[in-house]
Amino acid sequence: MATDIEMGRTFLDQLITDHLRGENIVTKVSMAKWKLTDTARRIATECMQLHGGYGYMEEYEIARRYRDIPVASIYAGTNEIMKTIIAKNLGL
Ligand SMILES: Cc1cc2nc3c(=O)[nH]c(=O)nc-3n(C[C@H](O)[C@H](O)[C@H](O)COP(=O)(O)OP(=O)(O)OC[C@H]3O[C@@H](n4cnc5c(N)ncnc54)[C@H](O)[C@@H]3O)c2cc1C
Repeated sequence: MATDIEMGRTFLDQLITDHLRGENIVTKVSMAKWKLTDTARRIATECMQLHGGYGYMEEYEIARRYRDIPVASIYAGTNEIMKTIIAKNLGL
């Protein structure tokens, strides 16, 4: 999980740098949006499982993360729409 987070953070930081340089990052932003939100959802699920019963109880923050993170792959353009943007920009 730490490796996935590190790779995602590196990709995101590179995109911010590219954006500040004025580069066209639409395709890569779409890649980042779907991949990072998908990764976050998977990690939240794994963390919830890792905590066992506590992970499901509202008293523990992981329960809220598990509940709240999935919406990130829906708002601001769903992940399916991100993939259609990527495919279009790749000429597929
Ligand atoms: C908490 C929250 C905050 C929001 N904030 C804002 C906001 O501030 N401003 C704003 O404008 N909107 C906002 N939205 C709306 C959000 O952008 C939409 O919910 C989102 O774009 C998906 O649209 P929809 O809900 O109509 O789902 P639909 O378009 O009905 O999609 C349903 C499912 O079908 C899939 N799908 C749809 N079309 C295709 C396709 N062509 N190919 C493949 N799959 C497809 C989608 O990926 C999704 O899985 C918010 C939504 C939420 C939940």
